[in-house]
Amino acid sequence: MTEILIRNADIIVTMDDDRQELVGADLLVRDGKIAQIGHGLTSLGEIHDAAGCVVTPGLVNTHHHLYQTLTRAVPGGQDALLFGWLRTLYPIWSRFGPEEMFISAQIGLAELALSGCTLSSDHLYLYPNGARLEDTIHAASELGLRFQPTRGAMSIGESDGGLPPDALVEAEQAILEDMIRVVDAYHDPSEGSMCRVGLAPCSPFSVSRDLMRDAALLARDKGVMLHTHLAENDEDIAYSEDQFGCRPGQYAEELGWTGSDVWHAHCVKLDGSEIDLFARSRTGVAHCPCSNCRLGSGIAPVRKMRDLGVHVGLGVDGSASNDSGNLIAEARQSMLLQRVANGADAMSAREALEIATRGGAKVLNRPDCGRLMPGKRADIAIWDVRGIESAGSWDPAALLLAGPTRVKHLFVEGRQVVRDGQIVTIDLPKAMETQNRLASALAE
Ligand SMILES: [Zn+2]
Repeated sequence: MTEILIRNADIIVTMDDDRQELVGADLLVRDGKIAQIGHGLTSLGEIHDAAGCVVTPGLVNTHHHLYQTLTRAVPGGQDALLFGWLRTLYPIWSRFGPEEMFISAQIGLAELALSGCTLSSDHLYLYPNGARLEDTIHAASELGLRFQPTRGAMSIGESDGGLPPDALVEAEQAILEDMIRVVDAYHDPSEGSMCRVGLAPCSPFSVSRDLMRDAALLARDKGVMLHTHLAENDEDIAYSEDQFGCRPGQYAEELGWTGSDVWHAHCVKLDGSEIDLFARSRTGVAHCPCSNCRLGSGIAPVRKMRDLGVHVGLGVDGSASNDSGNLIAEARQSMLLQRVANGADAMSAREALEIATRGGAKVLNRPDCGRLMPGKRADIAIWDVRGIESAGSWDPAALLLAGPTRVKHLFVEGRQVVRDGQIVTIDLPKAMETQNRLASALAE
């Protein structure tokens, strides 16, 4: 039996069903799960003094392309809309291989961990030069983050009217076979799972109708989740109307892409009837505010989605379109963006933090994560609020309104991943050196 006691926190923000916030409280972890939360708890295990700290559930990232951490701030892609941006980056990505996939995933996940994230999904939809999904799975398991990678895919290349170059697309039969292979090898459906695999054709403009439908059938057969990009911007809507004769929501519904086992990234341009459809069918949304700003895509109707009962989580999206992977900063951005669209009372700091924690866990079908309650997994972020950015703060809402944007300690399944602001599970300086060397080689 292993115990960790987090003692005397200024505030524990539980995100439990009553949204309790406990002052001067303790939290006891036993064997990777939360055993108790209260006052005056004792333990013979490891003790962490959390005086001067706010304790929150670990944040949940519902959309990322980790491989893109090797292509941040690429000239030519910095100021383009979605389709132009993709055309600039595809040729660079086509030179990636297993080493690039591994190291970029490790850097991206470490960056997320430092910003309070304990559970991340990833959407890897290109596999050049022998790259495989397990390159990222190994990166996550070394680092110690809870991981929900998705086997993405692109199958319609330029010569067939799609957007990606032919060299980056795969044959659909090979895609389906590899989807089966990675689910059988790596998907763990159990409670507390550290790795769940999903299926994720890249977007309606890069795969066929058949592959969308077949992936949905396969996911139901295997009991895994489905993920893709949907209704990201005006170009995306125009493509759908032009090629499929319908809006993205209808396209998704016809092909089996709605339900509580499905979540779609962006959904910036969903209209009222599509939001109704998502609410009725319990289809999830990964909201990516910084990426939507960076690519000028628009403001997702998150206020309306939440009011109608759509499950919304937060995503940093790939680092070629953010270009930061800081999840607590992303939560702040989601709050600010709803206020731009709907006024100062449109989203509170607490609601944004809720979306970033239990909201994301709901989207990823993880009732065992995203809140601090006895019986839930011990995924915990501890924020030191004695720094300059917190000086003069009156309320824990300052975490989003003011900062900090980096954790002091981070635990995943009761295992410490960040200690005193430093990653302790891997040699991060060495990984960064490799990352920078590979980025330089790609730039040449
Ligand atoms: Zn994306």
